[in-house]
Amino acid sequence: MQDRELFSQLLGLRGPWKVTDIKVDYAELRGDIWVGWPAGESAPCPVCGQVFPVYDHRGERSWRHLDTMQFRTILHCQIPRIQCPTHGVKSIEVPWAEDYSRFTALFERFAIDVLLGCQNATKAAALLRLSWDEVHEIQERAANRGLSRRGQEEFVHIGIDEKSFLRGHSYITLISDIDRSRVIEVSHGRNEAAVTEVLNAMTDAQKTGIKAAAVDMWGPYLNAVAKTLPDADIVHDKFHIIKHLGEAVDKVRKSENRLLCEEGIADLKGTKYLWLTNPSRWTDMQKGIFQEIKGKQLKVGRAWSIKEMFSSVWDYAYPKSARNFFKRWYFWATHSRLDPIITAAKTLKRHVEGILAYLKHRITNAVTEGLNSKIQQIKSAARGFRNFNHYRIAILFYCGKLDLYPHKCL
Ligand SMILES: [Zn+2]
Repeated sequence: MQDRELFSQLLGLRGPWKVTDIKVDYAELRGDIWVGWPAGESAPCPVCGQVFPVYDHRGERSWRHLDTMQFRTILHCQIPRIQCPTHGVKSIEVPWAEDYSRFTALFERFAIDVLLGCQNATKAAALLRLSWDEVHEIQERAANRGLSRRGQEEFVHIGIDEKSFLRGHSYITLISDIDRSRVIEVSHGRNEAAVTEVLNAMTDAQKTGIKAAAVDMWGPYLNAVAKTLPDADIVHDKFHIIKHLGEAVDKVRKSENRLLCEEGIADLKGTKYLWLTNPSRWTDMQKGIFQEIKGKQLKVGRAWSIKEMFSSVWDYAYPKSARNFFKRWYFWATHSRLDPIITAAKTLKRHVEGILAYLKHRITNAVTEGLNSKIQQIKSAARGFRNFNHYRIAILFYCGKLDLYPHKCL
């Protein structure tokens, strides 16, 4: 009798709930604890709280609980049901677990801590002695709990970016909250619908609360933002613009290198990353190579200068001066006789409003880029993520800054 009372206290059971039986299997290192609602006690309707006599009991259910010393511990209960004239026949609420969970709330909370500590579902599963699917189940419940608690919070500056998902050409779209460095939602694909679905799931207040979106010059994303957030500004961020210009410089390098090699000149061999790296991050060797080929009047050097010069556009305080600068730069770029640079300059001109909008909002996709490396880590820590939903849940769990814990902790 004493041990039941001790366990009632250890479990923190309140009210009529009582431990009714305990079994310990010393060989299997397993403890089973039965909890019950005493016969004759009436119980509250889970919806309205009115108290009624117990109507019947459901079949026995079990929940994995925190271990008792070295013993894996399982709670069991036949949950009583009441019959409420308004709400019908209902199972009463149990204080140790959330609805539909196979784990107690305290166990779920511990599992969430282990997942966060390991940053790796496979390692967490081993520590918790759970299967990968069970860990995923806890992770999914936690993420969904967090999403529903986040509910109608507003976002002012959002970032929209793509990320490769499986090997090959499969993509996901990440929608992030730039101000709080967190992922808002993840959707499959990188088409217009991938963004529209997420934005349309927001309330009207949330939509009008968004002042600007940092987006690459990618048509489907631009259409989605223009249609669903007509009042938000589109900002083309620095990183994407520099990347586009970098790709143009690389095309110039490739074709020039090919021509030089035909003549037996190897000046540009192995210089690919020199032209793509910010000079402030050049290695001593890269600095040396640059000094050597600087005076050789190479096309790639000219292309590179045009790319580097472009960055000044973001230093202007006033859009008007920035616009004038852009005009001068555009003239220079389009008269460079370098086809890839001319093409890139024309693309930038079509998106000049989005480029200049940076001066108003000062936002970039750097947050999304930072989240990208964290997501890469999540991806390599889990087995492949063949399933999009598993991937989405893991990203929201680790990068959503969500309130993950169950509140019911006895
Ligand atoms: Zn009721």
